[in-house]
Amino acid sequence: IYTMTATYYRKGQTSEQVVLPAADMDFASQVETALEQHQFFLVYQPQLDFNSGRLKGVEALIRWRHPEKGIISPDKFIRVAELTGLIVPLGKWVMRTACAQAAQWRDDPVLGQMEVSVNVSALQLKSGTLVEDILHVLEETGLPPHRLVIELTESAFVQDDGHNASMMHRLKEAGVKLAIDDFGTGYSCLSYLRDIPGDYLKVDRSFVMELPGHNKAGAVIQAIVSLGKSLDYRIIAEGIENEAQASFLKQLGCDIAQGFLFAKPLEADALQRWVAEQQQPLSIKSSAA
Ligand code: C2E
Ligand code: MG
Ligand code: MG
Ligand code: MG
Repeated sequence: IYTMTATYYRKGQTSEQVVLPAADMDFASQVETALEQHQFFLVYQPQLDFNSGRLKGVEALIRWRHPEKGIISPDKFIRVAELTGLIVPLGKWVMRTACAQAAQWRDDPVLGQMEVSVNVSALQLKSGTLVEDILHVLEETGLPPHRLVIELTESAFVQDDGHNASMMHRLKEAGVKLAIDDFGTGYSCLSYLRDIPGDYLKVDRSFVMELPGHNKAGAVIQAIVSLGKSLDYRIIAEGIENEAQASFLKQLGCDIAQGFLFAKPLEADALQRWVAEQQQPLSIKSSAA
């Protein structure tokens, strides 16, 4: 039954055929069916400016509404989607849906100005047409390019022969922004930072979790902030769950806050209600570091 092979794009440029374990293959076909049957949906998590306390944007995050198993989180299916190449059609669906939604917020006084961040797998870069696909979606939906942020992890740029960086330059020329996600967790190679036109560095939740008690996590974040700022990046801290973490991160010089403390990822209509309920900008005091 499981004679199907998956195209597995390795970190090196060549693609090769590998046979996935039957369980993964079975799961992959469920992902494919789910895409056809519109079982995926997006939620949007607010990102706030530490200083003004105002909403800066939202990050789109995928969810799977499984007919029997309920809501399934991306940690459970993105890997298999990547291994099978399904990440390409799935990623296109995410891009189109997030941009269409953001464009639809046009008349909302707050959300109409917001940036929408979309996670892009490094493997989507190998599909070859990512830049054209994105530009096409922007044209189709009418979303102004400066309202779109692409989130990529370091793995897209480490060992890059320059191809991925040049794709980012083309997007940058069109006005699209770039964030480096989960920064500090993947690789220690930093040289790519000067070659790519990045706008945001996202400090990974694993560092934020350790705050405020853990001195070494604080030191790592401080180093990320100072490196990022000297290269003109704005720093986003993700996974902020309590006030102590928020004030510590503000003190360290982070620019933008994202985490359950402020809001969980919300479906579009719930997000609109959340925005309407915000009476005044939030205020975070800096703590002594
Ligand atoms: P990520 O891009 O680093 O997204 C941040 C994750 O942290 C999200 O998990 C979010 O719900 C979670 N998070 C945010 N604030 C907090 C907090 O205060 N506490 C805790 N415990 N968690 C927090 P989620 O939605 O489960 O997504 C997990 C990962 O799956 C994402 O990490 C991203 O790598 C991937 N992913 C999600 N949506 C997509 C997508 O549309 N395309 C691709 N390629 N990957 C996606
Ligand atoms: Mg992300
Ligand atoms: Mg992240
Ligand atoms: Mg992550």
